[in-house]
Amino acid sequence: MEEIISLCKRRGFVYPGSEIYGGVAGLYDFGPYGVELLNNIKQAWWRANVQLKENYVGLDSAMFKDPKVWVASGHVGGFADPLAECKKCHARVRADKELEKIGVQADEKMTEQELSALFDANKDKIKCPTCGSTNWAEIKKFNLLVQSNLGDFTGKNEEPVYLPGEACQGIYLNYKNIIDTMRVKVPFGVAQIGKAFRNEISPRNFLFRCREFEQADTQYFVKPRENKDAYEKIKQERLDWYVNMGIDKKNLRLRQHENVVFYANDAWDIEYNYPSYGFDELEGIHDRTDYDLTQHMQHSGADLNYTDSQTGEKYLPWILETSVGLGRMFLAFLCDAYSVEETKNGEKRTVLKLSSELAPIKCAVFPLLKNKPELVDRAREVYSGLSQSFMCEFDDNGNIGKRYRRQDEIGTPNCIVIDFQTLEDDTVTVRNRDTTEQERVKISDLVQYVQK
Ligand code: ATP
Repeated sequence: MEEIISLCKRRGFVYPGSEIYGGVAGLYDFGPYGVELLNNIKQAWWRANVQLKENYVGLDSAMFKDPKVWVASGHVGGFADPLAECKKCHARVRADKELEKIGVQADEKMTEQELSALFDANKDKIKCPTCGSTNWAEIKKFNLLVQSNLGDFTGKNEEPVYLPGEACQGIYLNYKNIIDTMRVKVPFGVAQIGKAFRNEISPRNFLFRCREFEQADTQYFVKPRENKDAYEKIKQERLDWYVNMGIDKKNLRLRQHENVVFYANDAWDIEYNYPSYGFDELEGIHDRTDYDLTQHMQHSGADLNYTDSQTGEKYLPWILETSVGLGRMFLAFLCDAYSVEETKNGEKRTVLKLSSELAPIKCAVFPLLKNKPELVDRAREVYSGLSQSFMCEFDDNGNIGKRYRRQDEIGTPNCIVIDFQTLEDDTVTVRNRDTTEQERVKISDLVQYVQK
């Protein structure tokens, strides 16, 4: 993981947030190659979840919402991490996570008092990760919602305005609009990619747990109790998607939650085997029943019932949710693609074996020699032509071997070299990132070749 984090910084994928001010825990900025990879992941996800699905539509809702949304969703009351503070060094830890480490499972629904009692009963076995003490103060729940001060929503200045704790709420708020304006019928899905903010008390593990992140969500609306088959299908589809996008099957698994969160009936995680910290959550797949629509109906007073146009039946649909952090996907794709190989002449080469769909740069174009204007001019022409169709890079710096290594490290699938033969017959060499083999291709066939 350290090597991958260092590559991310060194090669412009991810920078620590506000670095010149010393950095802020849990905030990261995506650099020039990072934003390309991120956009490609988003596009691939959108294609799989909107474009290729006849009964799914997309949405992009505003981040700020009426503060009552977060009361209705249960986040104001229940979206809290239980924290234990070490009396000796004042370090704060997640009580449930520390209990988990010693094999004790805390229930999501436990009150502060119940969790305190459970923690108390085990506290001799729980050592402070900072100083080793077992002297703990009472557990306090710490709300994860991030407050802001946008305008005055209610005219009475009664409630704070929140940044979204999860991206999906916008879908519930617009579910009725979508039914009224689009020709959708239950079962149907809505997909959205949106920012989420959480006051994570211990942001950690690079992009895995941040305070600001993006979530890609789908909410699938089904007839009440007609959830089982669709839920199984969705779980399998999401798992298969990662494999199709190039993640090794053995690094993925599905795990059912023993204690489900307050809004869910059944919850599963797709877990990825992250280097250094092992299997952990990548994506959550939740059977939310009619919890969300019921809550919003009660709090807003709006009738959110769906009427079946054929039978006249009226009901609140149940919801099946998939929710994944873009940063966690980014990390999983990077970790799975990262490899260090030995070349034929005993040198090390670092290669990101990203699928060509995800690779930030699709082809790099090199003139064989920098000091031969006829080669450089021809290479620039080829570069401009290919740039119309793909993200390309032009590089004439250093020997060819070095240029190949630079592209391998960022996962570029094709390196195209313009040499003296090009000037004679309009062909170039295309070097394959994974096999390192080269082929001669006509310039006029290049777009088709790269596309393939
Ligand atoms: P965790 O148990 O790891 O805190 P969660 O169960 O609270 O996650 P959900 O609320 O179900 O997560 O969010 C759905 C997805 O959003 C997660 O599977 C994860 O990919 C992503 N996610 C959640 N919290 C964070 C975070 N702090 N940083 C980055 N991604 C996150």
